[in-house]
Order: sequence, then structure tokens, then C-alpha cells
Amino acid sequence: MDNIKSKNILVTRSSLPPFNEFVEKIKPLWDTAKLTNMGELHKELESELKRYLQVDNITLFVNGHLTLELLIQAMNLTGEVITTPYTFASTTHAIIRNGLDPIFCDINKDNYTIDTNKIEQLITNRTSAILPVHVYGQVCDVNTIQEIAKRNNLKVIYDAAHAFGVKKDGVPIGNFGDASMFSFHATKVFNTIEGGAAVYHDENLNTILYQLKNFGIMSQVDVEEVGINAKMNEFQAAMGLCNLKYLDREIKRRKYLVEIYREKLKRINGIRIIPEQEGVESNYAYFPIIIESNEYGLDRDQLSKKLESYHIYPRKYFFPLISEFNCYKDKFNSNLTPIAKNISRKVLTLPLYTKLKEEEVEFICDIIGKRK
Ligand SMILES: *Cc1c(COP(=O)(O)O)cnc(C)c1O
Repeated sequence: MDNIKSKNILVTRSSLPPFNEFVEKIKPLWDTAKLTNMGELHKELESELKRYLQVDNITLFVNGHLTLELLIQAMNLTGEVITTPYTFASTTHAIIRNGLDPIFCDINKDNYTIDTNKIEQLITNRTSAILPVHVYGQVCDVNTIQEIAKRNNLKVIYDAAHAFGVKKDGVPIGNFGDASMFSFHATKVFNTIEGGAAVYHDENLNTILYQLKNFGIMSQVDVEEVGINAKMNEFQAAMGLCNLKYLDREIKRRKYLVEIYREKLKRINGIRIIPEQEGVESNYAYFPIIIESNEYGLDRDQLSKKLESYHIYPRKYFFPLISEFNCYKDKFNSNLTPIAKNISRKVLTLPLYTKLKEEEVEFICDIIGKRK
């Protein structure tokens, strides 16, 4: 039996299928020697994911970031893109690396997604799209965003890196907006080691996305686009196919652990738990808490240090804001998104993964409950 008190508990731990199942899945590759370039496993995963996510169109990529970069390129966005600074570096980098200007909108204080009351005041004649983030798997206000986009003739691309498998009012998350990006990075709810997928309504994007991830090559003699290499290989696809079989069970396990967290933390003064969204079937990807230091007695950094002294390593996820990164801080002003700034200074994301034990969750909650 592991001794909880001496074992490191990290914020996450990658899901792995039984070793033998992975070996069985990759065995045929030793006969075909076809390791990449959209092989059999790639095709199989693409159709399995299309079914699991219940979307019209899907294209797989080597990672989530390049998925987003190439989606932006394929959809010919121009000028300015409205997004939030309360996300992972990738979201803003993808806009900038396409030569576009990110315009930061604040988040709402209830679920940390884009504040739809503040979007329209940021629209100019250069705005081409809105790029909101379903942060922690919390669903953005998709209906209002759709209305704003329609009224102003804008495209909508969701960063759904955290939202694999989430549904809102029974509608699978990948159906909102014009397109969404998923990440299958090792730390995400569903992983292909590294990987990603674009899902979208316009079937004309199939060809262009396929070209862009393969250097823009159409045939041996035709190169049509300034593409890049962003193909998912067969080993990644094999990992995805094996992991997908266990996903529903894993999400159930996450839900169970989150319920323990909620139950044990709800009575602690100064600890705010993200509310459950009505009508949303969650994937329980992350468990962030907000520490109100005046009520709780310790601030976020002090609580984080305290947990670390017990070998528990939560993450300040998302801190700092993207607009505060060294590479961006001269260009943007984080005071213009005060709620995002405030939340980023109070948030702590607690350990959550399927192999985490109930006793470990209880232990973490007990330490938080002690305050001192
Ligand atoms: C993980 C993540 C990405 C990037 O995905 P990768 O697969 O790691 O390239 C983009 N946006 C958000 C919000 C993420 O969490």
C-alpha cells in the first residue's frame, strides 16, 4: 500500500490502455511498414471519433495547436479575432502566428468563459471571427455567441481542447460555431499521446485541411498551398483507438472523484467551487477552485505552498494571463480584462485523473479544510 503522505500527487496523470491491447493494435504495422501519411489506423480513428463526437466533418492532426493554426488559415480569417486571455498559450499564439491581431475580451465570473455582454463593443470593421474557449470543459454561451456572429457576419471557432465529449442540452459540443478544435495531448481527458482534431460544418474544408497538414501537396506534381507537416502518425492513432474504449468509464470515474471534492469542499469558507452548468453533460476534465483570501485566511499562493509541503502539486491554471506573458505584455493591457485578471490570481486547479484514489481526494480536502 502506498503511503499517501509520502507519494507525490501531481495535477494530472495520463491515461494509458492495458499494455497488451496497445501492442496488439500496433502489431500489423510491422507487416505493412506504413507508419504515417494517413494509414489504416488513422482512418479508423477518424471514423470512430466522428461517431463519438457526432459531428459532420473531422480532420485529425499531430497536435491540438497545429489543428487550431491550420483551421484559422483554412478559414481565411483576416484582421482581428476576438478571444480571451484566460486560456492556454496556444489559443493566442495560433492567432498571432497567422499574422492576425487577437482582441482580448473579458470572461464572466460564473464559469470563466467569454463574457458575451462585452463582445460587441470590441467588434471593428477589421474583425473576422470570435475564438472563444470552453475553458475547463465549461460550455460557452454558444447561443448568444451565434447571434452576435450572425448579426455581425463573423466566423466562430471554438477552442474545445478541454471539452472532449461534453454535451449541451443533448447537443455534442463540436456542433457549435463554424468549427472547433480538440486537443488529444497526453494530459487531456482523451489522449493520442499528442494529437488533435478539427471538426466543422463546411465540407469544403475537408480538402484544404488535408492539404495544409501535408505541405499543401495535392499530387506528386501539384503543391497548392503553403502547408506544413501536421499529420497524426499510426502510433498516435493506435493509442487513441485503445484509449477511446475506456473513455466513458474514465469520465464516470472523474465524475465520482469530483463529487467527493464538491461534497468535502463546499462548506469551507472562502473556497469557491465552479458551479455545475444546467443542461451540460460534463467530461470532468479539471477541478479548479477559487480562493478568496479574506474569507479563507490564506491566499492562493500560500495554499499552493501548503499543499506542496504535503507533496501535492496543484497548478495555477491559468496564471499568468496570456496578455501578461513576457512575449505579449508590451502589446496588451491585462487591466482591460479585470475579471480574468482577478480569477487568474485566485485560481488553483486540484489534482484530477482516473487513477487518483478516493483517499487521496479526501486527504487533499482535509489539508485545505485545516486552513492553518
Ligand atoms: C492543450 C490545449 C491546447 C493545445 O493543444 P496541444 O494538443 O497541446 O497542442 C490549446 N488550447 C487549450 C485551451 C489547451 O488546453
